[in-house]
Amino acid sequence: MKYIFVTGGVVSSLGKGLAAASLGTLLEHRGLKVTMQKLDPYLNVDPGTMNPFEHGEVYVLDDGAECDLDLGHYERFTNGVLSQGNSSSSGQVYESVIKNERKGKYLGKTVQVIPHITNEIKRRILALGVEQPCDVLITEIGGTVGDIEGLPFLEAIRQFIQDVGLENVLIMHVTLVPFIKAAGELKTKPSQQSIAKLREIGLHPDILLCRTEHKLPDDVKEKLSTYCNVPIEAVIEGRDIEDTIYRAPLLLQQEQLDEVVCKRLGIVAPVADMGDWERFVTRIVNPKKRVRIAIVGKYLEHKDAYKSIFESLRHAGAALDCEIEIEEVDAEVLEKENPALHLHDVAGILVPGGFGERGTEGKIKAAQYARENNVPYLGLCLGMQIATIEFARNVLGLAGANSTEFDKKSPHPVIHLLPGQRELKGKGANMRLGTWPTVIKEGTRAMLAYQVPTIRERHRHRYEFNQDYRAQMEAAGFTIAGTSPEGDLVELIELRDHPWYLACQYHPEFQSKPNQPHALFKGFIGAALGHQR
Ligand code: GLN
Repeated sequence: MKYIFVTGGVVSSLGKGLAAASLGTLLEHRGLKVTMQKLDPYLNVDPGTMNPFEHGEVYVLDDGAECDLDLGHYERFTNGVLSQGNSSSSGQVYESVIKNERKGKYLGKTVQVIPHITNEIKRRILALGVEQPCDVLITEIGGTVGDIEGLPFLEAIRQFIQDVGLENVLIMHVTLVPFIKAAGELKTKPSQQSIAKLREIGLHPDILLCRTEHKLPDDVKEKLSTYCNVPIEAVIEGRDIEDTIYRAPLLLQQEQLDEVVCKRLGIVAPVADMGDWERFVTRIVNPKKRVRIAIVGKYLEHKDAYKSIFESLRHAGAALDCEIEIEEVDAEVLEKENPALHLHDVAGILVPGGFGERGTEGKIKAAQYARENNVPYLGLCLGMQIATIEFARNVLGLAGANSTEFDKKSPHPVIHLLPGQRELKGKGANMRLGTWPTVIKEGTRAMLAYQVPTIRERHRHRYEFNQDYRAQMEAAGFTIAGTSPEGDLVELIELRDHPWYLACQYHPEFQSKPNQPHALFKGFIGAALGHQR
């Protein structure tokens, strides 16, 4: 088994996750079994409690692990279905060590960053290789080399190399080669300094992936090679991509990244045939049609807060040969204004997940607009709860209908906590997380979209549809299109008298892949195209 560590230098936001995932794609296309892992230096035990404004979306895995959005890149770019072990934060590492200390496992020794924390980090790397056997494990280290909190991870890698042998480990350092306008030049100094930082800890990069706005001329590559002590063919250009991030693996293949990796690690594997990926990219960049979709949300300023939703829309668009033009509609703005002002020219309305009351009344107005004007609607998680509240208020005339998340005293709590859930305390304690099965009702649009009677989708929510209202809602045309196998939880709803109005309690956006768009997103975009005509 071979190990690749991906580190980042100079600044954050260089697209390390994307670079790691792209390398994963290339190696998989060479027929290798690849597993991806993220080690994050922050102290939060999981990003589940982090504000999407700060950290982007919380990505949820099959087993319910809440993690960084880079895990989303990994799942979209490779065939892996990841789980808790694929992601660790310093918070989790320290938590394990401190728990062991409390249990007396260290036999009274002084518990220290070295060796206890570093041992726990190494244990997590090795354990993943056992849990998900593979040819290559790619581990991305969050943060930037030089950060104080990242040091234990780098020290762990240094020790790890001693344990498994230099020939089995490769370090790819993603760095920035900035263009200084006044000088008209690309500058290598920041990279040199960042590599010097790596060396201080005893690590030496094998590959430099140089993020740059411009082409990296040979003389700059040579300079980097000389000063950073990396063979010239291992100085890889990672130029900004204008059209689609899915082009990254193709460009890196042109730069021979996978070739250099295989050579350095002594891996014998056929050249990657990227035909399927190339065809997907061509469809993304040369669509014949175009469709405008509104996303009515409240974390829109943070460009990564709805990452997986954007990507799922793109995958579905590519399959239907159409470009998705996204109209970001601030839910709070809709609260004050006529929704038609913002929604009259869109062919589909999507209400994503969310927590807290802010913006919910605006989302309800959007759902009402979609229902009354026959605009295709896709509600995800909170988006289903919103659709339920809207229908209860405006079709059944249940004034004050709401979710108890937003109004504890609502006379019609159509969305509520289940008994038993109510007593749980502590952040994250009563969340329904991870994959749960849904049984789909015959003859529904959902069945048309999915084509199978049972599906498995990922969840991340606390509140549920209140079954006390089921009969009257159904009688008025609100179809319960999918439930848990026992029938106690409502998972999927649709409107009988509407061309395409579907909403689910789960997050389909976590299971869409470039060449396998998710059934609901595909159905939604198909309906939007129809509406547009
Ligand atoms: N806030 C809602 C709940 O907890 C919806 C969650 C979500 O959209 N992910 O049930």
